[in-house]
Amino acid sequence: MDGPLSANAPAVVILLGPPGAGKGTQARILEERRGLVQLSTGDLLRAAVAAVTDAGLAAKAVMESGGLVSDEIVIEILSDRLSEPDCQKGVILDGFPRTTGQAQALDQMLAATGQAVNTAISLEVDDTEMVTRISGRFTCGSCGEGYHDTFKPTQSEGICDNCGGTDMKRRADDNAETVTERLKAYHAETAPLIDYYARAGVLTRVDAMGEIAQISEALLTVTQTQVA
Ligand code: AMP
Repeated sequence: MDGPLSANAPAVVILLGPPGAGKGTQARILEERRGLVQLSTGDLLRAAVAAVTDAGLAAKAVMESGGLVSDEIVIEILSDRLSEPDCQKGVILDGFPRTTGQAQALDQMLAATGQAVNTAISLEVDDTEMVTRISGRFTCGSCGEGYHDTFKPTQSEGICDNCGGTDMKRRADDNAETVTERLKAYHAETAPLIDYYARAGVLTRVDAMGEIAQISEALLTVTQTQVA
């Protein structure tokens, strides 16, 4: 690990970017290198769907269509997870907030414990590239490591480089039709948050079209210099 971000309050880092920008991949790298806890509302919602909870039942059809789950459900799920003890190490939010309402709710949640967002990183990519990136991706069902048919294949076909698992999964919403809807939702609801965090003075833009390792180096630099 490269060291913690802050000696005082736990750090709160937000990763913004359209589906396929690499938020999950980069969040996992930051988790390992910075000791932050990755919180993905997409993962939390998929777990709720699998567990057939009330939130999961309400979210399932919306997720399959590529739309956004209601602020009410997502804020509750995130707030519950954020109050767990491991989050005291600092968190990296992957896929939250996605609307102005969620951003305001997050500010309020953090203010209640004397915290604030330290840095919001916008991963900047071309929409055209996103469909290709998303359609080739898959994940190890055992350890969660992410792969891509072209950009990050496993060393031996069907076997996870990280844990040796063979249960590879592709997400149901990673198809061209749903991706188009997810991109639409991003531009309509989430892209305005780039201005929201710019106005708050905590925004950094990172070119996310290059190699995974290059982008993570940029993110490590940002989280080192911007979070005092
Ligand atoms: P992700 O894994 O971040 O790509 O999210 C997968 C799907 O979960 C999205 O397409 C949305 O339907 C839903 N979702 C995840 N995070 C949020 C959020 N913060 N607000 C609303 N819907 C969300």
